[in-house]
Amino acid sequence: MPIIRVALDVPVNTLFDYIAPSATTQHIGVRVQVPFGKKMVIGIIIEVTNSSSFSKGKLRSAKYIFNDMPPLPKALLDLFKFCSEYYHYPLGEVVMSGVPTRLRSSKPFVDKPQVKSQFHITKKGQLADTSLISKRSTLKRRLLVLFRESKVVNLVEIKELSPGAVKVLKELIELGWVEEAASVFKQKKSIEPILKKEQMNVVKNIAAETNQFNVWLLHGITGSGKTEVYLRLVALQLLQGRQTLVLIPEISLTPQLETVFRTRFPTTSIISLHSGLNASERAKGWLKALNGTAQIILGTRLSVFTPISNLGLIIVDEEQDSSFKQQSGLCYSARDIAIFRAKYMNIPVILGSATPSLESYYNAINHRYRMLRLSSRAADNSSLPSVRCIDIRAVKAREGLSEPLITALRKKIELKQQSLIFINRRGFAPVLMCKSCAWIATCSRCSSRLVVHLQDKNLRCHYCGYKERILSSCPECGDQDIAPFGHGTQRVEAALKEQFPSARILRIDRDSIRRKEAWEKILEEIHGQRVDILVGTQILAKGHNFANLGLVGVLNPDASLYSTDFRAAEYLFSQLMQVAGRAGRASTTGEVLIQTKFPNHPLYHALQHHNYEEIAKMLLTERKVANFPPYVYQALLRAEAPKLSTALDFLSHVISIVYPGKEVEVFDPVPAQMAKLKGMERAHLLVQSGSRKELQKFLTAWRVKLDKISVRKVRWTLDVDPIEF
Ligand code: ADP
Ligand code: ZN
Ligand code: ZN
Repeated sequence: MPIIRVALDVPVNTLFDYIAPSATTQHIGVRVQVPFGKKMVIGIIIEVTNSSSFSKGKLRSAKYIFNDMPPLPKALLDLFKFCSEYYHYPLGEVVMSGVPTRLRSSKPFVDKPQVKSQFHITKKGQLADTSLISKRSTLKRRLLVLFRESKVVNLVEIKELSPGAVKVLKELIELGWVEEAASVFKQKKSIEPILKKEQMNVVKNIAAETNQFNVWLLHGITGSGKTEVYLRLVALQLLQGRQTLVLIPEISLTPQLETVFRTRFPTTSIISLHSGLNASERAKGWLKALNGTAQIILGTRLSVFTPISNLGLIIVDEEQDSSFKQQSGLCYSARDIAIFRAKYMNIPVILGSATPSLESYYNAINHRYRMLRLSSRAADNSSLPSVRCIDIRAVKAREGLSEPLITALRKKIELKQQSLIFINRRGFAPVLMCKSCAWIATCSRCSSRLVVHLQDKNLRCHYCGYKERILSSCPECGDQDIAPFGHGTQRVEAALKEQFPSARILRIDRDSIRRKEAWEKILEEIHGQRVDILVGTQILAKGHNFANLGLVGVLNPDASLYSTDFRAAEYLFSQLMQVAGRAGRASTTGEVLIQTKFPNHPLYHALQHHNYEEIAKMLLTERKVANFPPYVYQALLRAEAPKLSTALDFLSHVISIVYPGKEVEVFDPVPAQMAKLKGMERAHLLVQSGSRKELQKFLTAWRVKLDKISVRKVRWTLDVDPIEF
């Protein structure tokens, strides 16, 4: 009697055996419904065998094997296995986290081919006079409001409004207020620019070896036309009938890149998988990749697990971006998994960046990866901006804005060019302090300070979301003299408004772009030249092309120079390169001004010369001396408990359960950098080794023992290759 071994979303590292009389090896990778405890759950069949370590009498029977989708390819199941082993995470949870939520439910999935399922509002519909709609047609009005707010609406959402809404939709279409969204993409193909010499060279190199594994590190400065290189290589894949997976950071840029791909390949099936999708959209896209209809799969972190039957190329854009690393549960790095996946499939993977991660750069100079460079800007007439430091100790400043910066801003306004002020802190001020007793408002649930949000008159914790009204007197000494200290985006915005009363100033941070539509509107404002000065956080730093941006001002970047996080300087450099890269994109020569207390710091020096290699070499030397990655491999055991001592005691205990061997170093448990988060106290234990193999050997043995310890009140997780401490 066949027995199936099933991956279930259960935190134990084992597969579960069930009797399944009709199962054959054809069912490996198929969804199955099985009893688990008192419930029925969905899992994926990983093996079909004839034997089980349990006696037949004890085994339960599988309830139902689904046939609503093709089985997951063996390559994907092997990827899950690798992931489970490398990150020491239960296989069932790995597998099930890779399956879209919708397919984890027991409802069969019927994917009706709905070519016409999306609709968008027309200009006529936008302008239509709603007072002409009869009072009784409330549904018509509601549907129109939905369209005006969301622009594009799909059939599911329309049906959700009311079952009768589909009929009303037809009326709106007849009125010419709404049309099928498919026509949105019936655009003409975008023109292919003539490749620059360097771009051509990159394309040729990679194209010459498309049938084998290689990690290509594409080091191209901002604006060097990496996207164009991707497009050409994807086109080659399409000619060969192969699929491409393009991974991008979790940022607002997804729709933009999607448009670039859709306009270049208007007749190609492209799916985009990101966090903005609802469950059924995600499942649909995922299935299109699985059955081979989708030719191009664009997506964020999680899409590295998309089943793709005929994968020919993987591209990881902005490979250094920390959003590729998952920070909870299965702490995987999508970039690293992409590399494993490419190796397994024997296909190329391209890591693209203006500032590669030190890990990748190190691998490139050691010839494990192959580096290709784009060293000049691609667009005609565009040049790299000039970068200058302003010694903030030596000049006058008002509300955090130095005189030279103000002068530069004024000049750009006169020239009708846009400026961007970058400050990586949202809110009004990072601290609320009492001037008489030095009391500071802190979060009671986190080890963090409460940020002053003057607009809503509240104090907020940016870690747990806690909010309270701004106090009018000090809770310690009763003094009324409490005041905000330091600068956030809101305060800079206010200061700029005072300096430049007639300028059009726009603040962009997570508070101002809560809604997806807000972004589109903001971009329209910027591109339509209806903004003079932008104030924003890192949200603005990445990827955007602002043609008329002449000046970038950077405020308060210094904190990262001397941070305890050994990656802080690397991130700062990358971030500043990114923001600086926004300037001088078109014919406007860009200028970057950095307000700093350390104008002679080598990091700023390298930035002034746009010299990534200078800083990379310096940071690598520091890492080597200090014995940090990429010279060693690390893993972190994190523990959380209501009391810090409980977490620390747990960690001290587990150090001793396995002998680490000579090549693995185990450090003492310490409180985490955020020692308290959302009411839980946190600590961790670092283990590292110069040999990845030895570290893995230790972790495997350790994980087995850890699973056997019964701990109360402590939650622990293992993070391999951690980037947060
Ligand atoms: P990156 O991703 O490297 O920062 P982009 O791909 O955004 O750079 O390209 C920057 C600009 O250069 C874009 O506006 C793009 O259209 C343009 N561009 C790219 N390649 C060429 C080319 N060969 N000729 C002219 N313009 C180009
Ligand atoms: Zn006080
Ligand atoms: Zn908090």
